Amino acid sequence: MVVPATRLAASGALRMLQRVFGYDSFRGAQQEVIDHVTAGGDALVLMPTGGGKSLCYQIPALIREGVGVVISPLIALMQDQVDALTALGVRAGFLNSTQQPSERNRIESAFVAGELDLLYLAPERLRVESTGSLLDRGTISLFAIDEAHCVAQWGHDFRPDYLALSALHQRWPTVPRIALTATATKATHAEIASRLNLADARHFVASFDRPNIQYRIVAKNEPKRQLLELLRSEHAGDAGIVYCLSRASVDKTAEFLVHNGIEALPYHAGLDAHTRAGNQARFLREDGLVMVATIAFGMGIDKPDVRFVAHLDLPKSVEGYYQETGRAGRDGLASTAWLAYGLADVVQQRKLIDGSEGDGPHRRRLTAHLDAMLALCETVQCRRGQLLAYFGQHATACGNCDTCLTPPETWDGTIAAQKLLSTVLRLDRERHQKFGAGQVIDILLGKTTPKVTQFGHDSLTVFGIGAELRDSEWRGVVRQLLAQSLLAVEGDYGTLVLTDSSGEVLSQRRQVLLRREPERTAPIAKAAKPRRAASVDLPDAAVPVFEQLRAWRAATAKEQGVPAYVIFHDATLRQIASQAPSTLAELGTVSGVGEAKLARYGQQILDTLAGLAPLA
Ligand code: ADP
Ligand code: ZN
Repeated sequence: MVVPATRLAASGALRMLQRVFGYDSFRGAQQEVIDHVTAGGDALVLMPTGGGKSLCYQIPALIREGVGVVISPLIALMQDQVDALTALGVRAGFLNSTQQPSERNRIESAFVAGELDLLYLAPERLRVESTGSLLDRGTISLFAIDEAHCVAQWGHDFRPDYLALSALHQRWPTVPRIALTATATKATHAEIASRLNLADARHFVASFDRPNIQYRIVAKNEPKRQLLELLRSEHAGDAGIVYCLSRASVDKTAEFLVHNGIEALPYHAGLDAHTRAGNQARFLREDGLVMVATIAFGMGIDKPDVRFVAHLDLPKSVEGYYQETGRAGRDGLASTAWLAYGLADVVQQRKLIDGSEGDGPHRRRLTAHLDAMLALCETVQCRRGQLLAYFGQHATACGNCDTCLTPPETWDGTIAAQKLLSTVLRLDRERHQKFGAGQVIDILLGKTTPKVTQFGHDSLTVFGIGAELRDSEWRGVVRQLLAQSLLAVEGDYGTLVLTDSSGEVLSQRRQVLLRREPERTAPIAKAAKPRRAASVDLPDAAVPVFEQLRAWRAATAKEQGVPAYVIFHDATLRQIASQAPSTLAELGTVSGVGEAKLARYGQQILDTLAGLAPLA
């Protein structure tokens, strides 16, 4: 049964939320945004990924007269978005370059006849006059500008198209506009407002905290093994994303996981478009796949049940890290953001910056971004607190990050720092040489390696003065000194050099507090028996029911050719599994079960619960 739009229009926003989407109440600022836009006001909405931005324009579009026009650059995802709305009984369509002319004509006629609630448009379509005249022939209830940060990012593929969106207001001055983004920095916020002429719009800035994401950053030693351990011990059978810096490491990591029995797919710009699209579609549609990707993957991926995001290389900025990790846990269920980072990452990133095109200010910006990322990695304070502080928001210690869960011990590393810095200094002053961390640490440890002997470094007065620390501990010292800008790396070989502040340490004017390196990276989870994260917190008896519902969902999704989450989210299946409703009315009270889905799937769910339905 499809809920007719006319009937929807008669009810308020909350009723719409309950009947169409099957949710009980609004989250955060949703209600305020919806009321404002429904009343015809312009809005700029900054909300984290998973915050619930879509409803902020979907509900006003359902209530207001006419069709809501949504500008979105994510062509590949439009079909899924439309499928998800259709499953809810909402009349939606899209226009983009991938369509057959007949399909396009059908959608255009539906738009003109007012037979759509929402129309998704790729931004470049608005630059063609035929789109303008099409829009003139219908009634537009609102313009929603999704991924609005595209207008603010230099070098962004969609930027020219987005800049042209400022003309919307001139051509359709009475149509309310709502721009939405999950990008949180003040600079981006200000630029969106000015570029899209939204200075007079009401701005809604949500908290950027994602409490269900557990942030963890570990020292990298054998990254692929460490990853495997994480997946096996905490995320068996879960969907997740693994980010690597290079295409080669994407391929190698995906192979490694597959070899170890984990279903993983690669995604990077070096694969042909067909393979890429195929892998993305599988990741979205199937349960429990791991996508190993460069950062080319992920913008707008609205798969709600990504249970972990793992980084095997250091992200270039805190903002990038936040965006990438934000793809975990959109459904609000517990998820993990895990990053393994080591000294080599710092060396590599510096090298990339040194070799990057662009002027001095550009490079200084990149350096500042990297420094902030390093500071996040080496902090002894709450990761979440530090992350939010970066976006100008405050948080108390969160209790759900590695430093909160196992507070790192700090130690007075002043003497160690002095030993290390003076070794760098001596190599430079006495030998006019620069070396990378490996050689410097070998000297401190007093190792007579061939390279130490070759350069006669065993005759330096600092040779062997650092035997009190292990090799991995010295690496930790180097990393932390880099993060505190007491040391720097330069050149192709990542040689260590002193900074302007190094002298303060060498001359005893500055104390250096360091984070103790763990003996080995122990998994944080309290020896829980391996279980899918999605079934954590379910009563034991409900776990098989949940798995059965998932199997039903997988079969149904496959039959309809839509992603599993379009049928029901994990959160909804979990609630069904633990409440075990026995009537349609009871089932209808579950969050995520609206009228259309109840009518379409209700009986099948009850049958599955009663053990009557043969499982596919
Ligand atoms: P965003 O676009 O901000 O990343 P979405 O609009 O995709 O977020 O919403 C994230 C998830 O939260 C979706 O699965 C959505 O169905 C769900 N959601 C949104 N609003 C509510 C609400 N008021 N109650 C329950 N779930 C909600
Ligand atoms: Zn914390």
